[in-house]
Amino acid sequence: MRKIIAIDGPAGSGKGTVSKILSKECNLLYIDTGAMYRAIAYLTLKYNIDIKDEDSIVKLASSSKIRFDGDSIFINDINVTDDIRTNEVTSIVSPISSIVKLREILVSMQRELAKDNDVIMEGRDITTVVFPDAQYKFYLDASLDERVKRRYKQNMEKGIISTLDEIKTSISARDYNDMNKKVGALTRTEDQVYIDSTNLTISEVVDKIKNIIEVK
Ligand code: C5P
Repeated sequence: MRKIIAIDGPAGSGKGTVSKILSKECNLLYIDTGAMYRAIAYLTLKYNIDIKDEDSIVKLASSSKIRFDGDSIFINDINVTDDIRTNEVTSIVSPISSIVKLREILVSMQRELAKDNDVIMEGRDITTVVFPDAQYKFYLDASLDERVKRRYKQNMEKGIISTLDEIKTSISARDYNDMNKKVGALTRTEDQVYIDSTNLTISEVVDKIKNIIEVK
């Protein structure tokens, strides 16, 4: 049977880092669904579309092709791996991802990408909407201060300039918006395995998840 490992959690909880390692160690296809919402946000900016113009954003998404190649993401064959991480994209991605019709398009793309593969997919609604019947469901969390510190470090490594205060404001706003969406909200459920990574190293989190997916 196809293995589906679904991981949800807020920004900076370590989902991306941990999923990438697990995908290599356990031979799973890695799908970063946040990157897909970011790719649409990137094109919205590129084509100067007003973020309130839902119809144009939905049209943009339905006429775009998103694909992953290793750790890179392409939209309409353009490599946007770095472009989707800018502060500008980060500031509009959460409101854009509240558009219900856009979510329907991306959710069906996500299911299609996962077809015929053992996958590890991470985002906000993977355990609840995209693959509610996945065998393995995790909610990865960490305190706000720890998540801010991690994002600051990642941004520095990527050359993205932002202060700790700016990151804290941006992450708090995204947390609130992501947890209060009408559709696809980030939610904790009883059937997720909850992992608080605040005081854990990356390899401790990887081991915890590995123990569960290898034993079960
Ligand atoms: O994971 P990342 O922080 O890159 O995701 C960017 C944004 O995309 C999130 O803040 C959220 O608003 C949106 N998103 C979503 N559903 C997902 C993944 C991401 O709404 N499954």
